[in-house]
Amino acid sequence: MKTGTSLIIDQQAISNSLNRGSQYSEVEILEILQRARQLKGLEMDDVAALCSISNPDLLSELFKTAKDVKEKIYGRRLVMFTPLYVSNLCGNDCAYCAFRSSNRGIVRRALKTEEIASETASLINEGHKRVLLVAGEAYPKEGFDYVLKAIDTVYSVKQDNGEIRRVNVNVAPLELEEFKRLKEHNIGTYQIFQETYDRQVYSQVHLRGPKANFDWRLSAMDRAFEAGIDDVGIGVLFGLADWKYEVLAMYQHINHLENRYGIGPHTISVPRLEPATGADIASNPPHPVSDLSFQKIVAVLRLMVPYTGIIMSTRETAEIRRETFALGVSQISAGSKTNPGGYSEANKNTAAQFSLGDVRSLDEVVADVARLGYTPSFCTGCYRLGRTGSDFMDLARPGEIKKHCDPNGLSSFLEYLTDYGQPETQKIGMKQISNSLEEMDEVPRRRAVAMLDKIRNGRRDIFC
Ligand code: SAM
Ligand code: SF4
Repeated sequence: MKTGTSLIIDQQAISNSLNRGSQYSEVEILEILQRARQLKGLEMDDVAALCSISNPDLLSELFKTAKDVKEKIYGRRLVMFTPLYVSNLCGNDCAYCAFRSSNRGIVRRALKTEEIASETASLINEGHKRVLLVAGEAYPKEGFDYVLKAIDTVYSVKQDNGEIRRVNVNVAPLELEEFKRLKEHNIGTYQIFQETYDRQVYSQVHLRGPKANFDWRLSAMDRAFEAGIDDVGIGVLFGLADWKYEVLAMYQHINHLENRYGIGPHTISVPRLEPATGADIASNPPHPVSDLSFQKIVAVLRLMVPYTGIIMSTRETAEIRRETFALGVSQISAGSKTNPGGYSEANKNTAAQFSLGDVRSLDEVVADVARLGYTPSFCTGCYRLGRTGSDFMDLARPGEIKKHCDPNGLSSFLEYLTDYGQPETQKIGMKQISNSLEEMDEVPRRRAVAMLDKIRNGRRDIFC
């Protein structure tokens, strides 16, 4: 397929835009923030100008605007998920990753079907409903079918009160035909990070294997859309190149997808480099991103693409994660392990992909999030009702989606509390549910009350 990836990212245009953006006056920046409040999205120079803010007053204005936009669209919901690493076999040599092929110091394994089933059972017993299935780029002898079988296995496991209801997937870029098969296996989001949009840096850190091909990776989302997958997630591994450049490159990538397919990505992930065994660069990032810049990234993205979910993983500490909830994050992982077998095995000797900043259990994170006034949501309603891609955007843009998400968030949260919550978490959670009901408009509140009653009466998986 001809993808014309050189047309997707224009490095010169980004650098020109960053130059112009750094010259905006205070008044002009305040005007951009005013426009951002209207949820219409921003021009590339506007984004560059927001990235260049350093004046503390303007910075707090940026954060305040991002907070208001986040609340307007997402309310106080935070969607919960966890990664499920099925394999650390990998044929690539990414300088920052413990799974890189040149790292001989780790135990390699691809979980067998029974092992994937027991990992899934452990996650269900914790209360999870959404997983992100992750693998290195090398599969056991059945090839890509290994991934498809793994997805089917996760969906097939049923426990007393639960099952995994949505499997998102983060695996290496696929051929068009493979994407078509992936879609047939009922995935939620197909996610892949470009890592860096700077070609030169990209080639310096991707030393061997198929991932060394920048264009093949950059064109992955085009193939996914061509194959009919309309729910994709992009991301950058922050720390490899200048973060302002990366934000503008994401802007260009999103524009390309919107222009060609009518919709952009459903989510953006913002991983920052974390230490990893056998990967020195991970401990010494060439372009370290400070905590303040990291918050700025989240706030700018929130205004740049107001309807796109922002994912914050457990790479970050609990403190940083808390800061970013208010600035725009809409999905978080919790209780994560990044070693295959990490959830169910006593003998956890397989190496993790990188070190985690937040090692709390799902229940601890849920309690913390609810104490802060957010509703942890385990909802999988949109995806199961086929509200994805442009159907989702048609509801999201006029603000209609909240009428579904708010009640769904509450009913899935009550289901979690009832079936899995610790007594203290239940107490905090019930308070959060009643506070949320008070703040809701009449129609969604009535809907939510009816759904909550069903959960109390023993029904499960109630969504609208
Ligand atoms: N192997 C596939 C790939 O590379 O696209 C998919 C999964 S990979 C295990 C998931 C992501 O982890 C990568 O895209 C990369 O952004 C991130 N990652 C790798 N090493 C990391 C590190 N040291 N710190 C933080 N994130 C890292
Ligand atoms: Fe393999 Fe992905 Fe790690 Fe690269 S980031 S070494 S492709 S698992």
